[in-house]
Amino acid sequence: MRKLPRVLVVEDESAIAELIAVNLRHNGFAPTVVYDGEAAQREVDAILPDVILLDWMLPGESGVALAKRWRQQERIKTVPIIMLTARTEESDKVQGLDAGADDYITKPFSTQELLARIRAVLRRRAPEIVNDTVQLGDLSLDASTYRVMLNGSELKVGPTEFKLLHYLMKHPERVHTRGSLLDRIWGDHVFIEERTVDVHVKRLRESLGLAGAMIETVRGAGYRITSQAAPSKAKGDTAAA
Ligand code: CA
Repeated sequence: MRKLPRVLVVEDESAIAELIAVNLRHNGFAPTVVYDGEAAQREVDAILPDVILLDWMLPGESGVALAKRWRQQERIKTVPIIMLTARTEESDKVQGLDAGADDYITKPFSTQELLARIRAVLRRRAPEIVNDTVQLGDLSLDASTYRVMLNGSELKVGPTEFKLLHYLMKHPERVHTRGSLLDRIWGDHVFIEERTVDVHVKRLRESLGLAGAMIETVRGAGYRITSQAAPSKAKGDTAAA
């Protein structure tokens, strides 16, 4: 089992902090709440979070001042920071981003928006820890637990096939060229022949069993995953008892 992404919530309004924490917990994150900059510093010194939600207006040191300081600390500077604030003026946003925040969210915000922003910064900084489940037809994939399920039974899928399936499931019904899959799954700095994609698609189809037909080869173009799997040939076998 993978660890849940740690989110440090630095917010002095306890009702808001608690609401954020509850929502994060329900959505597969491990939140820690602190109410001021001093406690926040102690927390990041003790355990480095995966992402920091940082309120702008805090008692004592402001969120902006904290963000600036953290951006200069070797250990913390790569941790994504999302600023939370009631301010809406453009100049404030610029100031927050200048201070080193990765993103900015204005109160009041919806839980869905907050979760989407957290996942987006995590995906940019650390794609491997983003926690999400994708469902397509009878197939579901949980990136946090590394599980692929077909109608409730777990399938064994290799690591590259898992990444490939994850990407396809997040972009269903679209045709992906071998080149674009290489860039997305293997990274564009790696030199690998396009045939490699075919090998992994073949393995992936085998791992998926009956759902393997969901991955279609589009001649001359690439691959596509679709929820409309081709009808199975084995229809006549069942009623024999
Ligand atoms: Ca505040």
